[in-house]
Amino acid sequence: MLKTEGLTKKYGSLKANDDICFEVAAGEIAVLLGPNGAGKSTAIKAIAGLLRFQGKIEIGGYPNKSVQAKRLLGYIPEIPTAYDLLTIDEHMQFIARAYSLGDGWENRAQELLNRLELADKTKKLGKELSKGMQQKLSICCALLSEPKLLLVDEPMVGLDPHAIKELKKILLEERAKGTAILISTHLLDSVEDLWDKTFILMDGKIAVTRTKAELMNTGESLEQLFFEITEKKDEAAS
Ligand code: ATP
Repeated sequence: MLKTEGLTKKYGSLKANDDICFEVAAGEIAVLLGPNGAGKSTAIKAIAGLLRFQGKIEIGGYPNKSVQAKRLLGYIPEIPTAYDLLTIDEHMQFIARAYSLGDGWENRAQELLNRLELADKTKKLGKELSKGMQQKLSICCALLSEPKLLLVDEPMVGLDPHAIKELKKILLEERAKGTAILISTHLLDSVEDLWDKTFILMDGKIAVTRTKAELMNTGESLEQLFFEITEKKDEAAS
């Protein structure tokens, strides 16, 4: 569902992403890991079509900036930004119109708002929402169009424990429905029971790709693998 080939993003002379190649299949949860500044958000933003880049990114076989690809995509950004002067209800209507959603979107919107405890706040304006409420709203907006590829940048930060539990349930349900999911996070514990495949980024490059099955064979945890890869570099530097 998602394929990147030679994804490279330069900021001046800095290569924030350097020849990144990976795939995420339908019904798979992939986790993008790496230390601060490794290039995770850059990769997610490039895939979401928000940055110019070199290389190729395909979503469902379409170039990522095409309308066909955008129809398949849901994006939950690291920093949620609700429209100040739209209510929660109006955000959902806006998404429904932008994606030309057919009958039934209101029920889906209601269900999502219920699950993320926003159903009693639908008349509140974007500017009246707390950071966590904005994060919940951006989750509802991303899921309303029933995306086939979901990009999630640091999903758990700022959410209360109930919302974290609900979001994990939602992500597992989406995977069961065949949605391809790419999550970028530092919170290894938060994805331990979710992930199928991981890509560990270091200095803009993929240092390691592992499936959960491969890691289980070695008896290692995701955390052990992360430190093995990221601390190797520190040792080499000292
Ligand atoms: P974090 O875990 O801290 O969120 P990250 O892995 O998401 O980090 P990126 O935000 O992708 O890392 O940044 C990768 C590199 O690109 C960093 O060196 C960063 O300083 C640089 N960078 C990111 N955005 C810009 C920008 N707009 N202009 C210049 N350099 C940038």
